[in-house]
Amino acid sequence: MSAVPARIRNCTDDIGTMIRIPCPFCGVRDHSEFVYGSDASVEYPALDAPAEAWLEAVFQRENIDGVQFETWQHLHGCRMWIVVERDTTTHEIHSVRPAHRGIEQALEDEEKVRELSRQRDDP
Ligand SMILES: [Zn+2]
Repeated sequence: MSAVPARIRNCTDDIGTMIRIPCPFCGVRDHSEFVYGSDASVEYPALDAPAEAWLEAVFQRENIDGVQFETWQHLHGCRMWIVVERDTTTHEIHSVRPAHRGIEQALEDEEKVRELSRQRDDP
């Protein structure tokens, strides 16, 4: 019998299971460049809502075994906040978008301008 406890595996023990997050601004990066923010599906109450509503919003979380939306910040990159749709069981990432809808719209508009430019330049 060994006195040394078994090593606890984590999601970065081998390159095959490393979480890679496709930042909408920087491209695919290792998750170590990011910091987890919170559950992105939480809707916060009005500022003057009862304390119980704030208690629920801030401290009561689902422990989802499956796909959930999370906020992450690309702290060691562009520093932007993003919303990641991630499976908590497999760590598979289904989608990523900027957390701020205005920035998401600006990126979509920029892509439309590029597409129009390509169409104009192609004979
Ligand atoms: Zn980034």
